[in-house]
Amino acid sequence: MTGTKIQVLDPDTVNQIAAGEVVERPASVVKELLENAIDAGATSILVEVSSDLAGITMLRVTDDGEGMMPEEAVLAFQPHATSKIRDIADLSFIRTLGFRGEALASIAAVAEVTLVTRPRDSGALAGTRVVVRGGEVVEKNDVGAPEGTTVIVKHLFYNTPARRKFLKSRNTELAHIYGVAENLALAHGEVAFRVVHNGRERMATQRSGGLLNAIAGLYGADLARTLIPIDARTPLLRISGYLSRPSENRGNSSQVAISINGRSITSRQITAAVREGYGTLLPKDRYPVAFVDLSLEAGLVDVNVHPTKREVRLSREREILSAVAAAVEEALAGCDLAREAAAAE
Ligand code: ADP
Ligand code: MG
Repeated sequence: MTGTKIQVLDPDTVNQIAAGEVVERPASVVKELLENAIDAGATSILVEVSSDLAGITMLRVTDDGEGMMPEEAVLAFQPHATSKIRDIADLSFIRTLGFRGEALASIAAVAEVTLVTRPRDSGALAGTRVVVRGGEVVEKNDVGAPEGTTVIVKHLFYNTPARRKFLKSRNTELAHIYGVAENLALAHGEVAFRVVHNGRERMATQRSGGLLNAIAGLYGADLARTLIPIDARTPLLRISGYLSRPSENRGNSSQVAISINGRSITSRQITAAVREGYGTLLPKDRYPVAFVDLSLEAGLVDVNVHPTKREVRLSREREILSAVAAAVEEALAGCDLAREAAAAE
């Protein structure tokens, strides 16, 4: 062999590799599309899922957000094209859920994506429809469309058989989709969410219903009624949300939902801090049901840790964690659980 063994990969290959990080399964697509809709200022978002026995066949997310101009509708599919940050300085003060400019490019690299969009309040009569397949724009035309954006994703992983093979059963993939939508609905009470599967409504929350209404809609009014509110401020942060009574506990932490500045995240440390706040009120190895949102200065949260942004890094983490544990302890102490327990015996 002559020449160098090292080659720069072509852009299609690069996109496919990047897509592998962002688009793990159908629920990842739903997460990215929902985040885009929220970032676009939507007040109402509809998720439609179609499936057959073989799995998910179509995902469609419709929002009433700000929409896009015709040229933006094409640009949105370019890797690293974003309207959300301009330079590295902006990275320290992310207020939007997206900023990497990778989601649409990644999804379109491994699926067929149809985008229909019309900007809000622009006076534009027509909207734009763009179809992208395997990273290539294959159609672009004007269409009649309501204000806002609809994204339809079909043939997911058609060109990545390895990834397709690792998909779980249809019900498992659906459960992941519902989980993603629930977490975002909990973190965004200002938006009405609706999820429909094969024409049947699976989940719905109302706009401005507040967190407690979202919880009642998702987990039932019985649970919502018994929850204990938490709302504490320290100079560093505000902790708000709802906590279950200790008697309502679970064998794992999957019902501890945490968001930071409206971003639904997973954090073993914060989950552990919430658990710590319950102290001996909970049997060993049991977890509460909890919905906890932390508001802190954007400068204290580094969201640029992982492609899916599910994990974040915190500055002054130890102070934050002890504030969370203390706030939980205080909220529980405020409602005289000992007497309640005694009364129940
Ligand atoms: P990011 O969200 O990180 O910016 P995306 O690939 O998800 O990257 O989206 C690229 C760009 O396309 C966004 O920055 C935004 O300007 C535009 N966009 C995507 N989805 C929507 C939507 N639902 N409504 C309005 N604009 C959108
Ligand atoms: Mg995005």
